[in-house]
Amino acid sequence: MAEKKKGKDAFDEEIEDLEFEDVDEENIESVDVVDEDEVEADLEDEELDVQEEFDIEDEKDQKQEQKEQEKSVQEVKKGSSKLDTFFDDVSGVVDEADESVVVGDTGTKVSKYPIEKMKFNKNNRELISIITQKVFIPKRHFHEEVGSFRCFGGACCEHLDLPDPRYVYPIVVYDTDKTGKPISQDVEVKALDVSGDKYDDIVTAGELHGGITTIDLLVTCKDETYQDISFQAAGDARWKKSKNAVKYVVEFWEKNKSYLLNVAGRKITESEFLESLGYDTGTIDENIDMDDVFADS
Ligand SMILES: [Zn+2]
Repeated sequence: MAEKKKGKDAFDEEIEDLEFEDVDEENIESVDVVDEDEVEADLEDEELDVQEEFDIEDEKDQKQEQKEQEKSVQEVKKGSSKLDTFFDDVSGVVDEADESVVVGDTGTKVSKYPIEKMKFNKNNRELISIITQKVFIPKRHFHEEVGSFRCFGGACCEHLDLPDPRYVYPIVVYDTDKTGKPISQDVEVKALDVSGDKYDDIVTAGELHGGITTIDLLVTCKDETYQDISFQAAGDARWKKSKNAVKYVVEFWEKNKSYLLNVAGRKITESEFLESLGYDTGTIDENIDMDDVFADS
């Protein structure tokens, strides 16, 4: 088709022709329509216009966005400086009488159990007093997956090494300076958890001083990791001379004695133990030969 063969070359040809021929209206008309270069240029111009408009819009949006961002940064600053002091007043968050919630600065830690295990460090000597003649001796296992736990006299002993006996005492810890000299009448309630050789020292100290509960003990620590400690008798039990201290200690143990042994390791059941080791205790075949289960122990 003639119309298909348009474009600049065709147009020029036709113009040349026109110079020597009579004006043909049809040709002129078709020339007008076919100037594709012009059409293309127009289109490009239009596209540029549209692009420019977009660019302007984008710039507007960006400025608006920036403004909003600056505004929200300001708001955050204002809000967070308010929050810095907002929780200084804890009323409305915790009931003052609620002893189950501890509020403290970051760094404050609370043990899962109410009784803290006494830990000694190299830089401080501690003054303590053992408050019962009775000693509690749980046995403790250790397993990489399970951690430390108290022996339940079952699969634990079959599967792991024999448990270590631990010697546990409820104690009071005095408020002292680094040398172990009391600096107030305050006492803390904790639990002492020692191995057999340290226990021998305690027994000896008791024998030499008319009963372990009648004296205070000055404790020195040579190695923190292994809690390598030594005891030294340090006079009559001071806490027994303070009415407040005695009341506090008695009330504490009346409420919390059931947690005492947790300092020597947590209590777990046999099925919890087996589950930790990867046994699905829910689907054990009743006819299973237990010797097979522990064949590689
Ligand atoms: Zn065991």
